[in-house]
Amino acid sequence: MRIASRMSRLGTETAFEVLARARALEAQGKTIIHLEIGEPDFDTPANVVQAGVKALQSGHTHYTPSAGIPELRRAIAEHICRSRGLPDVQPDEVVVTPGAKPIMYFVIISLVEEGDEVIYPNPGFPIYESMINFVGGKAVPLPLREERQFCFDVDEFRSLVTDRTRLIILNSPGNPTGGVLSLEDLAAVAEVAVERDIPVLSDEIYEQLLYEGEHVSIATFPGMRQRTIILDGFSKTYAMTGWRLGYGIMPVDLAQHVTRLMTNSNSCTAAFTQLAGVEALKGPQESVAQMKVAFRQRRDIFVKGLNQIPGIRCIMPAGAFYAFPNVSGTGISSAEMADYLLYEAGVATLKGESFGAYGKGYLRLSYANSIENLEKALNQIDQALARRR
Ligand code: PLP
Repeated sequence: MRIASRMSRLGTETAFEVLARARALEAQGKTIIHLEIGEPDFDTPANVVQAGVKALQSGHTHYTPSAGIPELRRAIAEHICRSRGLPDVQPDEVVVTPGAKPIMYFVIISLVEEGDEVIYPNPGFPIYESMINFVGGKAVPLPLREERQFCFDVDEFRSLVTDRTRLIILNSPGNPTGGVLSLEDLAAVAEVAVERDIPVLSDEIYEQLLYEGEHVSIATFPGMRQRTIILDGFSKTYAMTGWRLGYGIMPVDLAQHVTRLMTNSNSCTAAFTQLAGVEALKGPQESVAQMKVAFRQRRDIFVKGLNQIPGIRCIMPAGAFYAFPNVSGTGISSAEMADYLLYEAGVATLKGESFGAYGKGYLRLSYANSIENLEKALNQIDQALARRR
């Protein structure tokens, strides 16, 4: 079949490929510790599951409005007001989608013309670069630097802005680095965005998984509220990756276009999932706090352990649930290392360059796993690397 040429510009997410390879090894009887996939290992909180089941049993099995049910849009608007300290978020600024990922595609295709430049974090979530390229934009990487705790250099950022810059993408706390952008970084972006009237897509999906300090959204900077699209969702905070529930907060005119893209693609997000989302936001929040405590404990143990392995150096990530160690000191490239650890240590990880060119020399490991497994993984990595020395 002849495939449209634009498909050659579409990237992918390596996590799903590595997961498939790891599963194939498991089918051959090997035991693999999964540190490749970015999802909480906890179950969805019971009250949320019950709300979903109740919704199904009481007949919420039909289409809903494309932008989401009013009850959920209201609950999200209230949640964003509370969590971001924004006084006036309205339900008609909220578009609910099946997972937060569609917000990236829908916003990028709504705003970016062919040839427009989009500044995006690198290493960063691979779908940004993929989508920018897919719509014919020019992907302009904003390097995140280990020596700056995976923040960027403000002067370097300014040097990337041109008359063709049409969108800036931020992600804090960040995947894959776990880094959190400093106030200085946010202020620099806000200044440029306001001065040049450039919208910012602020991916805040790990907002609740922050271990040091308070989350600050760029939307709270002067002049930024009307220029910011906040991306957030339920996958990480409420361990709901398989439910597919996310959303964007954006100016009403853009929300109408994004809603039309929903009508043209998914029609709507599943009704019972949305009702479970209402319970997630309005019900008890203890499980969110408990997960965060568990992730922090795992982070501390895991990062300490990584730093004890010769040739590996890992800064303490301030958010999300990923460690992003520099492995260049081992003398093995990150690509070879990821394969070697999968086949020889039984540990599935991702090579840093899966997150962009500036990720080369690093690995991404998710510590959303039991302490027992994390300790086992550390041992197995250490032993496998010792065999290479
Ligand atoms: N944004 C970032 C930075 C992510 O890491 C992820 C998931 O891995 C998403 C968005 C998408 O989340 P969802 O599962 O809700 O589509």
